[in-house]
Amino acid sequence: MTLRQRIVACELCPRLVEYRAEIARTKRRAFTDHTYWCKGVPPFGVRSPRLLVVGLAPGAHGANRTGRVFTGDGSGEWLYRAMYETGFSTGPEAVHARDGLRLIDARITNVLRCVPPGNKPVAAELDRCRPYLVEELETYGRLRVVLALGKIAFDSLLKAWPQTGRAPFAAGLKFAHGAEHRNDDQTVTLLVSYHPSRQNTNTGLLTRRAFNAIFRRARSELEA
Ligand code: SF4
Repeated sequence: MTLRQRIVACELCPRLVEYRAEIARTKRRAFTDHTYWCKGVPPFGVRSPRLLVVGLAPGAHGANRTGRVFTGDGSGEWLYRAMYETGFSTGPEAVHARDGLRLIDARITNVLRCVPPGNKPVAAELDRCRPYLVEELETYGRLRVVLALGKIAFDSLLKAWPQTGRAPFAAGLKFAHGAEHRNDDQTVTLLVSYHPSRQNTNTGLLTRRAFNAIFRRARSELEA
């Protein structure tokens, strides 16, 4: 089975499998006529990216509904718009999985492939899902920039990294919006941003200007 097929079929986390099913039953009023995806959500983008964006998990009524990462909710609206404005996406909006949108030189993934209650995964769920991220990182031979969205994605990515065989990052890195880290052989730059969740964008903790600046930084890394 391909990585995509294994993620879609995965049922390793009982709490998340149950929660997915519950969302499919209850839905949100605006989407009552939608058939929710409610399975693991695979990565999206070019097969061999130079930029990998790493988020937390599918949104309950976003990717968990549409089946494509960051598609169909407010976080995705911020992410795809920023990627479009910096040349990493063919369009600014991601509405559903067959909307024709394509990424350019980039791929988007999550450290957890199934939606967790309250957007709060437990450590065991992140541990179970990490091998998929390790496999991705091993596969992407042209990778130059990894962008971690939020602290959970940042920490989980750094736990996955030593298992990939790639040169390490410095030990003990802490999450900080806007930080940049290079691995020991200077082949990969890790950029760090707040997650574009409504909690961060509605409060002004993350502005469009600051978010776009991170992607412009990724662009300049790729062009260096
Ligand atoms: S979160 Fe990951 S490991 Fe857990 S059921 Fe979903 S795909 Fe499987």
